[in-house]
Amino acid sequence: MASWPTSADVESAASQIAGVAHRTPVATSRLVDDRAGAHLFFKCENLQRSGAFKFRGAYNALSRLSPSEAKRGVVTFSSGNHAQAIALAGQVLDIPRVIVMPSDAPSVKRVATEGYGGEVVLYDRDREDREEIGRRLARERGLTLIPPYDHPHIIAGQGTAARELFEDVGPLDFLFMPCGGGGLLSGSAIAARAMSPGCKVIGVEPAAGDDANRSFRSKQLQTVHNPTTVADGARTPSLGTLTFPLVLEYVSDMAAVDDSTLLRTMFYLWERLKLVVEPTGALGAAAALEGAQPILGKRVGVILSGGNVDLTQVSQWLAM
Ligand SMILES: *Cc1c(COP(=O)(O)O)cnc(C)c1O
Repeated sequence: MASWPTSADVESAASQIAGVAHRTPVATSRLVDDRAGAHLFFKCENLQRSGAFKFRGAYNALSRLSPSEAKRGVVTFSSGNHAQAIALAGQVLDIPRVIVMPSDAPSVKRVATEGYGGEVVLYDRDREDREEIGRRLARERGLTLIPPYDHPHIIAGQGTAARELFEDVGPLDFLFMPCGGGGLLSGSAIAARAMSPGCKVIGVEPAAGDDANRSFRSKQLQTVHNPTTVADGARTPSLGTLTFPLVLEYVSDMAAVDDSTLLRTMFYLWERLKLVVEPTGALGAAAALEGAQPILGKRVGVILSGGNVDLTQVSQWLAM
């Protein structure tokens, strides 16, 4: 399984998900372009099924299981968008799916996951190890473990978002997107190398969880433990065994933005583009608009990666 994903795999994922995942629109704005002095193209994965690009990888991975694997089902550990994506992809494909979630996960996430028909198994974040529970369930019930980013079919599936963007708008000078475990970033960078070879691909993290920035610069895998940031989709401890080498090979640079810059950008996108993007989903836009790279006069792609906002938190964010 641990074969390196290539642009042929991204292409194959694109046909695998065609007609099931949404081909999301590309948003543009004269006002945003004037402010940035550049041409910006926003790929709206906040409008993807289940509310984030994660459905692409989840469906690509689940639809490639053998009939007997599909019959037994899958397990994953995540409280976020990967859980919802696996729950929905399993519903579409009629594959049983178990989601291991912390007992204190926000109830909106648990309700959304159960709404897509996933079986939720709760664990105590302080006393239990979620990977251990996932592996035990896989063993005991014969389930296939589908990790959130470090898996060739997940990486290839996520790369289809960038692939569609290049198909729709042509070559770009820059492409910005968030980086958590690096599945979206490595898949998109593989697609960029094939479809727009001159494009600089930039991964963006929250400043409090900048392990991938440090890994990229030191070329040694760095980790971070439970960073405090509003970008909950990018709190991952480190890049993976597949995504780290892929990021080193394909990605041009990394950037980091602090939470107040991130929230300012998120609200700007809500106001100006009328697009509800979650904090993590605004990381790429924040780096592009706040001068992380010299984009003046350039053609710039930005992946708005997700839109699953817990609206009860908005008043806190406005106060930050
Ligand atoms: C998971 C997620 C990310 C990070 O993706 P990785 O593949 O883990 O790097 C970014 N944005 C959103 C909205 C996500 O759900």
